[in-house]
Amino acid sequence: MSTFTNVKIKCGLCGHTFNSVSLMSTNAFGSPDLDLRPPEMKRSTMPMWIKICPNCGYVHSDIENDGERFADYIKTADYLSCEGHSFESKLSENFYKYALILLKDSCPNEAYNAFLHAAWACDDACDFDGAVLCREKAIALGNKELFKDNPNLILRHIDLLRRAGKFSEAIALCESTEFKDKLMQKIASFQKKLSENNDTGCYRVEDCK
Ligand SMILES: [Zn+2]
Repeated sequence: MSTFTNVKIKCGLCGHTFNSVSLMSTNAFGSPDLDLRPPEMKRSTMPMWIKICPNCGYVHSDIENDGERFADYIKTADYLSCEGHSFESKLSENFYKYALILLKDSCPNEAYNAFLHAAWACDDACDFDGAVLCREKAIALGNKELFKDNPNLILRHIDLLRRAGKFSEAIALCESTEFKDKLMQKIASFQKKLSENNDTGCYRVEDCK
């Protein structure tokens, strides 16, 4: 089970103090999704992964750290409107804003994760257009430096491509990457087959076995 605690938080941007709930502990049993989204209970703890200041609207996972350098940016139309995109869920919007903050802070790898988390929140809200948009934003940040020859991250990227409907790119990445691990080979073959069938569905690692 997941355990929570009430905490007082001081915004690192405007100094406002507010009550929030923080995650004390959680667990994950079973198979992750192919994009490494964890199973329950951790799966349902996403609202605890970031904090939102109710006074200034700053969003961050470490919101108490100094955020003054973003004071002007969080007032921009880009930030306030999620670059003009509307989402079905507030959680998607908040993860998207967090990704924008991370981009502003020159942290593209962390922004990649935040856009993916925004996509997961869209998936949960049945916001199909939002989910594709957020995956496309993450995909645009994917590069060799991000993957660092880590086959897990390459497999995750293949899943993003497929679920965003970029089937030929997903197949090309499956074919151009050598996966030495047997399970990884199976996942890559599974991804290739799904892509050939134009399947954008959500699958778990255990579905490949
Ligand atoms: Zn604030």
